[in-house]
Amino acid sequence: MSLKVWIDGKLYDKEDAKISVYDHGLLYGDGVFEGIRVYAGRIFKREEHLTRLWDSAKTIRLAIPYTRDEVKAAMEQTIKANNFTDCYVRLVVTRGVGYLGLNPNKCPRPSMFVITDTIEMYPREMYEKGMAVITASVIRNHPNAISPRVKSLNYLNNILARIEAADAGVSEAIMLNHEGNVAECSADNIFIVRNGQVATPTTTDGILEGITRNAIIDLCSRMAIPCIEKTLQRHDLYIAEECFLTGSAAEVVPITKIDGRTIGTGAPGPITKKLSEAFHRHTREG
Ligand code: PMP
Repeated sequence: MSLKVWIDGKLYDKEDAKISVYDHGLLYGDGVFEGIRVYAGRIFKREEHLTRLWDSAKTIRLAIPYTRDEVKAAMEQTIKANNFTDCYVRLVVTRGVGYLGLNPNKCPRPSMFVITDTIEMYPREMYEKGMAVITASVIRNHPNAISPRVKSLNYLNNILARIEAADAGVSEAIMLNHEGNVAECSADNIFIVRNGQVATPTTTDGILEGITRNAIIDLCSRMAIPCIEKTLQRHDLYIAEECFLTGSAAEVVPITKIDGRTIGTGAPGPITKKLSEAFHRHTREG
């Protein structure tokens, strides 16, 4: 059976799920999106993802043509049509069909589509043994350009960072911000541990405010693990005892090498393991 994809109120077979070449989402990257996980039949952090989607849309002055309830119903309908209990949901809102000019006012109606599918970001082995990463030369967006806090359809900086990672023979790249401080990975947030304290860049350090990131900060507080949001430099990464990345698709991935420097013992650290296990429990509890 072919996967079903929801586009503006209708379900289509994956092969027939198509949008116009005149859609400004394609022509200009004019749109926003969310990546969400479903665990045991429940959409994890649904409200947080919807809030971020609406916030992203607001900043790019895109009016989502559905209510929150309609978007929830569209997600539920698509998950059900594909008989998923555990999957990844991609929610995309584009500016819609227009003309061959930038003017978004000539796009009468934004489009939304919902894809549900399985996703595996990194090989299973990396979750157990850890992952090597590099820092990329390409930086995160300047906050006064399109803010990194907007989950927009333009991921070119991040894609270029991923190409640099691939060139270096690793799976991920850490991106710095316009000031040279640590921002995040190409599609994930980053955490370090030093002297028993967990640290992650602040929301003004050029990051997407990850929902998994926020869940980890919450878990630290519940588990009485000290955790702070602070500006980090590359040096902080190199001297960290532990490091991990977080994201909806990736979940929690230990990082054991950065730019050729071994992190801690070179194996996933105890706090990383504890938080990763707690996160997995949390995904089943809500
Ligand atoms: N940073 C970037 C650039 C991302 O695209 C993502 C989402 N894949 C994240 C961080 C992680 O965010 P979340 O935990 O909300 O998935």
